[in-house]
Order: sequence, then structure tokens, then C-alpha cells
Amino acid sequence: MTKIAVIEDDKLYNEALCISLKKEGYTVESGFSADDGKSIAASYPDLVILDLGLPDGTGIDVCRYIKGISDIPVIFLTARDEEADMIRAYDNGCDDYVVKPFPIRVLKKKVEAVLKRHSSGKSAILYKDLLIDCEKRTVSYKRREIRLSAREFELLEFLAKNKGQILSKETLLREVWDSKGMFVEENTVNVTINRLRKKIEPDVSNPMFINNIFGMGYKFGE
Ligand code: CA
Repeated sequence: MTKIAVIEDDKLYNEALCISLKKEGYTVESGFSADDGKSIAASYPDLVILDLGLPDGTGIDVCRYIKGISDIPVIFLTARDEEADMIRAYDNGCDDYVVKPFPIRVLKKKVEAVLKRHSSGKSAILYKDLLIDCEKRTVSYKRREIRLSAREFELLEFLAKNKGQILSKETLLREVWDSKGMFVEENTVNVTINRLRKKIEPDVSNPMFINNIFGMGYKFGE
């Protein structure tokens, strides 16, 4: 599910945004300060809606911080008299912005457009020296190529594209195997994960890419 973080200190505005985004089927996490924005970024949302003027800092600082963690798209909310600051926001990686007050359907369209643009342009995923090239279907760690089977690659790609999310065995089975018309037993997921780990993890006993979340499933990254 697509997760959107809303960082806006105006409580009513924040709530209204969250309600309408939830109605669209997004998972929403809300925050009210620059600090909240920075901590929410660590949970790797798919997109951040970020107010420019926050009580404890500017949205621009938060944006720079977020982009330093990962290439998460950011849409700014700005007041009319702040529009000039948007130049600086773009310099710091902002993807789009809306001027308050705005019709919610305009924001929704922008969210859709930014998400679409972002996912289509994303042909490679880099995380801690592990480079997954989704176009060439190759994987390398510290520039050394790792040979994976087609299934191992698809499993890794799916995990990495959902970085930070806990994925149950059932989800992995459905997305990586069933969707390709292969119906296998649940244990296949464990077996393939273990094989994959042996190939990509520098230290299998202390994995840094594929983490086991006890009783819940697997998660790529922290
Ligand atoms: Ca504000």
C-alpha cells in the first residue's frame, strides 16, 4: 500500500488532508513539526506532503534531510506570501507544490502525478552499496556483480521496492510467485530468502538487507 506522510502544523488542515488521502486508499502518517517530518522519513513513506513553514524549522530543511535518506518525493504546501521561497525548495529536491488554500482534488492529482513519475523513472535501487538495476535485472554489491536466479531477483526487487515495509510470507508468495502463475508451498519463501541472503548479505548471521520480523514477515532495510 502506498504510504503518504503529511507534515503540517495546522491541526485542522492536517486532519482534513489525512482524511481525504485515506479516502483515496492511501496509508497516511501525520506529523506537525520539522522534527516529526524527520522521524517519519525514517519509515520510508512513498511520498511526503510538507508544509513550508513549521514551528521548529522550515520545510526546506526537512526536505533536504529526507532526500539525504532516500529519494522520497516531496510536495510542498505553501502560503501565497511564501511562494518566492519555492525556488529554494526546488534547489533542495522538492518535486511539486501547491499554494494554500487549494482545492483538495488539485492536491490529489499532484500526488498521483508525482507518484507515477517517480515510480516510472525508478529503474535502479541503491541501498548501502547494494545496487539493484531493475531494467537490466542485475544486482551488484560494492560494484561486484552477484548472480541471482530469476525468482531470487524478483523477490529482492519486490522487497527493495517496498523498502521499510513489513511484508508477510503470504504477500511475498502472492506477489512474487502466484502473480506469475506459479503456485508453490509457503516454505518456498523461506528457502528462497535464505538462498538470497547467502548471496547478498556480507554477514548472513547479521543481515543488513533482508530482516526477519518475528512472526510477521520480512523487511528490506531498517
Ligand atoms: Ca505552517
